[in-house]
Amino acid sequence: MVKELPVIYLQTAACSGCAVTLLNTASPTIKNVLIDQIAPGVHINLRFHPVIMAAAGEMAIRAMEDTAEQKKGEYVLVVDGAVPTAPGAVYGAIGERNGKPVTMLQRVTELAADALAVIALGTCASFGGIPAAPPNPTGCQPVRDVLKKEGISKPLVNIPGCPPHPDWFVGTVAGVILNGLPAADDLDDLLRPRAFYGKLIHENCPRRACFDEGKFARKFGDEGCLYELGCKGPITYADCPVRRWNSGTNWVIGAGAPCNGCTQPEFPDQTAPFYEKLVDVELPTIGAYWAGKEEK
Ligand code: SF4
Ligand code: SF4
Repeated sequence: MVKELPVIYLQTAACSGCAVTLLNTASPTIKNVLIDQIAPGVHINLRFHPVIMAAAGEMAIRAMEDTAEQKKGEYVLVVDGAVPTAPGAVYGAIGERNGKPVTMLQRVTELAADALAVIALGTCASFGGIPAAPPNPTGCQPVRDVLKKEGISKPLVNIPGCPPHPDWFVGTVAGVILNGLPAADDLDDLLRPRAFYGKLIHENCPRRACFDEGKFARKFGDEGCLYELGCKGPITYADCPVRRWNSGTNWVIGAGAPCNGCTQPEFPDQTAPFYEKLVDVELPTIGAYWAGKEEK
């Protein structure tokens, strides 16, 4: 007997990057996720996903609404994108009802109210991200703020990243299936799973020895720590240095570019300019010693 976990995947104010990153999952592959059992005896039944579902238009919307009605309290709602809330919330709609557009805000609140749990996938859904960047004319807000304002109390997990690593999403869903909903201790203050966001990039960075020695790259292509070139690793929580991207092939600092801090609520405005150094990071003493020698 295989148990089904129904999932409704909504795309709101976003770029589809988070949907694409999910399709790049390597272990399990997206085929395994969609067709096979993701854990013994459990199959994810992805009932609505605008990018990959075969149905379109009314048929697709019906699949979403039928799931919400028939699987009340049993489905997981994944929101990919920020939620436009400016007066009338007219900046984004998902389908129609009685000939009128249903706003993204309406869909998120209606579906979240009847969900088993909600996953905010990507930095836009988790913290507002690029759609909520000033001047934010559409009034985009993160899912957490929308649910709070609407008085909807549901278990919520944030999986930020621009885009997030596919393992962060698939691993979180697999964790829910195997162990149930995350306990409070499993998440940090920003509702990110500690298993993936528990350490700073800077803690595990292979260039950390250069930082400690004060050996900084002055231009792209130089050896050394990328702090002077704008790296936000010292304030960014994610396991990119150990997990790496594209099936473990490489990651941004491995390729010689600084971390932009994409998993943080400060992204993008407060982690920008991306190529200017952070001003309030305390440099280690030994680095200052060698920097002093270089100046003489
Ligand atoms: S500042 Fe960036 S490049 Fe330098 S050690 Fe920290 S994370 Fe690595
Ligand atoms: S290295 Fe930094 S910018 Fe790149 S994905 Fe990880 S957290 Fe985001």
